[in-house]
Amino acid sequence: MRLLLVEDEEGIGKFICQGLREAGHTVDWVQDGEKGLDHAANLDYDIVVLDLMLPKMDGLQLLPRLRDYGVKTPILVLTARDAVEDRVRGLNAGADDYLVKPFDFSELLARIHALLRRPPLQTTNLLKVGDLEMDTLRHVVRRDGRVLDLSQREFMLLEYLMRNAGHVLTRTQIGERVWGFDFYNESNVVDVYIGYLRRKIDKHAPQPLIQTVRGIGYRLSTDEELD
Ligand code: CA
Repeated sequence: MRLLLVEDEEGIGKFICQGLREAGHTVDWVQDGEKGLDHAANLDYDIVVLDLMLPKMDGLQLLPRLRDYGVKTPILVLTARDAVEDRVRGLNAGADDYLVKPFDFSELLARIHALLRRPPLQTTNLLKVGDLEMDTLRHVVRRDGRVLDLSQREFMLLEYLMRNAGHVLTRTQIGERVWGFDFYNESNVVDVYIGYLRRKIDKHAPQPLIQTVRGIGYRLSTDEELD
């Protein structure tokens, strides 16, 4: 597998390169956004790992340009702690996944492998589960054609549920993905936000899509409710 790493920080770059090479992958490492765009647009990679804060051109400028060129390579964004807004913008700008710094290498590798396994359809900006539709690029959610007004966090939560539709997600998985690595599993924030989402998505619909899986977590599905 051939990967492109766009990361200006020497220490992190070396750490990622070494780990990926040890895992048997080929890695090209560039340290600014212009080189990143040039490499990603002109060479054939299986995946691009992209830091957001970069010299010459930052990741959020690079992403839409790359997608404008028609490059469909999966992109995993690396972002600083607490930059939730950047994460959302990154995903809207064409990234497929993100990882918050600092991270364990095993987590990075798992995310990369998950992206590579993901069928191309799911990297689209348009997600659909039953009559629930999300356009991640335009940041629009519709249920049965009716536009729903979601907060940024509700949107992130719903996108995660929709990208994993049919699968049970634990509160920890949801918390870590939507709230970041410093998420505390003891808090009930996931349940609270699931409640917000339910009110907006399921309240007026004949079929509820957000299902509680007792003792485990939640799943979004058009199938009959689990118990
Ligand atoms: Ca950086």
